[in-house]
Amino acid sequence: MGMDVFGQDPKNKKGEYFRNNVWWWRPLWEFCEFVAPELTSMVENGYSNDGDGLDEEDAKELAKVLRKSLRDGTLDNYEQTRTEWLASLPIRPCVHCQATGKRTWYTNPNEPHEYKASLSYDLMEAMMNEKDNEGNGNGQLPNYTLVEKPEGWLEETKECNGCEGTGGQQHWAKNYPFDKKNVREFATFLANCGGFQIC
Ligand SMILES: [Zn+2]
Repeated sequence: MGMDVFGQDPKNKKGEYFRNNVWWWRPLWEFCEFVAPELTSMVENGYSNDGDGLDEEDAKELAKVLRKSLRDGTLDNYEQTRTEWLASLPIRPCVHCQATGKRTWYTNPNEPHEYKASLSYDLMEAMMNEKDNEGNGNGQLPNYTLVEKPEGWLEETKECNGCEGTGGQQHWAKNYPFDKKNVREFATFLANCGGFQIC
């Protein structure tokens, strides 16, 4: 899935179309909100693709603010703070293996493709527990239930496939990339798009 941003009255090829996948889009729009809140607040929901956007004048203004941030060090500072913040985030315990790095599987000796994990947990509970940057979630592992081994099946303990045996997983925020080049490309699009819609 991605965000397709269409120029409404493009001045040239550069203003026709800009695309980021969802992982790239989120930090880019967050940065826009950081440097130009008075402009981004005119976009009702910058994180959904329901066709919201800015008109030509405001798109140009946003391009100007972004380019200024590239020149005057605002972007460098923001990037550095963000990098430090990401580095400070704790590794979260791997939910698949109770943070042990190992999982036990039951396999059907007659049907090698038939298998199940020895522990089950409630996915919803696991998701609710997960910490986010709004302070929700307790960061705890969910409750586990031991699954009964079907008669005649084999039991095998292996390295956890969810964390490659480390017992920990990266914080979700680390999945969202951000860089100068992307900001520069977006600014170029904005300056030439004649207004845009996020679809
Ligand atoms: Zn694991």
